[in-house]
Amino acid sequence: MANVTLKSIRKTYENGFQAVKGIDLEVADKEFMILVGPSGCGKTTTLRMVAGLEEITEGEMSIGDRIVNDVAPKDRNIAMVFQNYALYPHMTVYDNMAFGLKLQKTPKTEIKERIEKAAKILGIEALLDRKPKQLSGGQRQRVALGRAIVRKPEVFLMDEPLSNLDAKLRVQMRAELIKLHKDLQTTFIYVTHDQTEAMTMGTRICVMNEGNIQQVAEPKTIYNHP
Ligand code: ADP
Ligand code: ADP
Repeated sequence: MANVTLKSIRKTYENGFQAVKGIDLEVADKEFMILVGPSGCGKTTTLRMVAGLEEITEGEMSIGDRIVNDVAPKDRNIAMVFQNYALYPHMTVYDNMAFGLKLQKTPKTEIKERIEKAAKILGIEALLDRKPKQLSGGQRQRVALGRAIVRKPEVFLMDEPLSNLDAKLRVQMRAELIKLHKDLQTTFIYVTHDQTEAMTMGTRICVMNEGNIQQVAEPKTIYNHP
């Protein structure tokens, strides 16, 4: 079970700026939750706190039934995919995907199995020996997803993963991510400022503004009112 629970979560940065102002949010197990809202409203900060990449100033964060405030990112059973992919340029696709598993001391044969399976799901089997610079934008994004999938995370965090792709590819990747969510049966939390993405991909949408949550509802409730 990997529901994600935020209780009165607050983030004040070192300069005193309050980016997240005490929010409550319950993301259900296997849900596809979208965080949406204008630039600067606190979406990325919230996601980074779930990942453990940003310290929580106040409040309680749980993944499953475990409070994770003091749990390191690598021990959270989450994976995060970023806008800029953050692939290691000097490593092959295979080694990029293997990197996190090697750190976890996963046996080599299992690493190979997991990578081959993920590569098949994403249609990148033929690219495993390439370096990132030999890939198109869409292929790089698939590798970034692959690197996350092989970790078998309970929770998938994505921060505008499609925003660097051209419009046509974005539409295609939207459909692929919806399918991926179905196939993996894991909890997704997905940050975007794109209304079409929010509307078409999420099971629910959390609308943020100026560090607060304004509304949490199904897409049709949010976008279909007159
Ligand atoms: P969003 O993802 O919704 O665009 P962010 O979570 O990135 O918003 O940022 C929320 C607010 O916090 C913004 O006003 C941003 O400038 C500010 N912020 C982000 N990181 C820092 C930081 N390290 N120090 C101070 N302020 C920050
Ligand atoms: P270090 O500088 O010691 O690598 P990090 O905090 O960058 O410390 O990473 C520690 C471990 O946390 C990594 O080896 C990785 O397994 C995990 N980790 C870091 N960032 C993420 C992320 N975005 N998603 C999932 N796991 C992460």
